[in-house]
Amino acid sequence: MMIMKGASVSSGIAIGKAKIIKKEVLHITRKYIKDHEIKTEVEKFENSITHVLNEIDLLIKDISQSKVHTDILTTHKMILIDPEFTSKIKRSITEKLMSMEHAVSEHFDEIVNIFNDMDNDYLSQRSSDYEDVAYRLLSYVLDKRTDRFGNLDENSVLIMEDISPSAVTKIFAKNICGLCTEKGSKNAHSSIIARSMNLPMLVAVHGLLENVKENDNIIIDGNTEKVIISPDKKTLGKYSKKIEQQKKEGDKLKKVLNFKAKTSDGKRIKLMSNIEIPEEIDQVIKNRSEGIGLFRTEFLFMDADEFPTEEQQFQIYRKIAEKCAPEPVVIRTIDLGGDKLSNLLNIGHELNPNLGCRGIRISLEYVSVFKTQIKAILRANMKDNVKMMFPMISCVSEVLKAKMIIEECKNELKEQNISFNPEIGIGAMIEIPSAAITSDDIAKECDFLSIGTNDLVQYTLAVDRDNETVSDYYQPSHLSVLRLIKMTIENAHLHNIKVAVCGEMASEKKYIKLLIGLGIDELSVSPGRLLMIKNEILQTDLGKAEELVRKIFNALEDEN
Ligand code: PEP
Ligand code: MG
Repeated sequence: MMIMKGASVSSGIAIGKAKIIKKEVLHITRKYIKDHEIKTEVEKFENSITHVLNEIDLLIKDISQSKVHTDILTTHKMILIDPEFTSKIKRSITEKLMSMEHAVSEHFDEIVNIFNDMDNDYLSQRSSDYEDVAYRLLSYVLDKRTDRFGNLDENSVLIMEDISPSAVTKIFAKNICGLCTEKGSKNAHSSIIARSMNLPMLVAVHGLLENVKENDNIIIDGNTEKVIISPDKKTLGKYSKKIEQQKKEGDKLKKVLNFKAKTSDGKRIKLMSNIEIPEEIDQVIKNRSEGIGLFRTEFLFMDADEFPTEEQQFQIYRKIAEKCAPEPVVIRTIDLGGDKLSNLLNIGHELNPNLGCRGIRISLEYVSVFKTQIKAILRANMKDNVKMMFPMISCVSEVLKAKMIIEECKNELKEQNISFNPEIGIGAMIEIPSAAITSDDIAKECDFLSIGTNDLVQYTLAVDRDNETVSDYYQPSHLSVLRLIKMTIENAHLHNIKVAVCGEMASEKKYIKLLIGLGIDELSVSPGRLLMIKNEILQTDLGKAEELVRKIFNALEDEN
């Protein structure tokens, strides 16, 4: 048995047999043609473009239910009809007497190499789009179309070096149970599609291909970001039970889709979703989420080459707000820094990045970046359902500074005659102990609070949330954390505002009764866990949950 770590694209567990899919290499001879062959070669190029464009159009129609797929295929079409590309290939044929295959493969090799050399994960992942287009074109001309995925069954876990977006769309129909790649990143188009398919998938499992043999038993655990190769009997048994449980729960949970989240004795708990990328919105709507309680906007900045403009951000926020209306969308201003680094900000090396320039500290330092984002959010609030939230607040003065900047943004938008909604709910994340302790002052200045337990646990217990070796010390139900949550809820209620939990604690069934008993009003969870959490809320009795909290506090206080 061997356990390897990777990066989880989507949650969920899969057990199956390894199907190793080798990278398909087309052997292109660097052939030159004679003068009299130019016309035929150009025609061959034009015909193959037409053929591949038709093929892509058919695919677009075929998988029209997924916007993510069609967007990517549309990008591929754009690459093919780009006049710069077509005229360059024609010039290579007519002036350099290259065969069409020679010219096309040289062109795409150059582009792919440029992308691969880039020190930017997002951009280097874009090379797979070009590889994909090149493969479509060249395999058609060389008549080398094979279905390299062959007969896969629902027991197959694909093991690959990397996977292109079109390959993911092909396996869409194959009904496999999981996917694991040696390279790749969470932001690659292929990962985005796999996520929208809800397929358990891990990427960036370094050394994967060296350690897996065809037909090995494989377990993918998207929840803990692990792949287990040739598991022993005990592990296999444990995971088989988890899968059975997963299936049963999945079926059972569909029944709660149309119910409102409330305890068995009638207390309403607003149940919303957390999203990181706009593509997740489809799953949010499908699961009838009551809006978005946390839109982490860092993705816009993390892999970008330049700062997203106000207009680009506005379009993204507006679309999400429109799709969710009338339900709320809480847009969190950027929480860069810590482990979420952006090439765009010159933060420099920090010895303790989690205690360094992070979250609101960055926004207050780079005011023009902050203002651009604030203006985009104000403009996107046309349906009156957008709220703005600040991360990593440590005391009320940061909220006051941020609010002053919001006022400046409103004035500037007014001066520019740009329409926006001046009424917007303002919230603070409570994820630093100092913020929880002073939540009375913070609540006075806010329209809502949201507790970020991921960081609150990290900072209260001084335990790095990403360090596996100290993970035993990471205890969300530690007495100190519970007291801070309780204090925050009481202070919010004192000022008649609502308080949510948007950290991962809210996505874990075992903490739901505890959070409800503590008096939480709202929960914001991973979209894939929404129904499971709703089911748990429906089975919770508020009175009993409050009693449970009293008992837990007594027991923990006795222990300490
Ligand atoms: C949190 O800290 O709980 C939280 C929701 O923020 P993030 O996980 O993005 O740091
Ligand atoms: Mg946080």
